[in-house]
Amino acid sequence: MLRATCPKLSAIAKLLREKYDLHFAMIARNAPEAELRLAEAEVSRISRLMTNHRRKCPKCTSALTGVTPIRRRPLLLDIAS
Ligand SMILES: [Zn+2]
Repeated sequence: MLRATCPKLSAIAKLLREKYDLHFAMIARNAPEAELRLAEAEVSRISRLMTNHRRKCPKCTSALTGVTPIRRRPLLLDIAS
């Protein structure tokens, strides 16, 4: 799970969830295929937006690469031993 609180990302995520819900509701009520396809296009558009944002936003990229070692140089203790 992403712990970063990037307001932009959460806004996009909220939008994506809405689109997903809309799409799901359409499936549930047997919406015509043309409508479904439109909803699907929206979902993939928003998720692409999210991917792009994550790639560009410094907040989100640093959250994704949270495994980057903070220790860039060995500790003094390590050198001494
Ligand atoms: Zn971000």
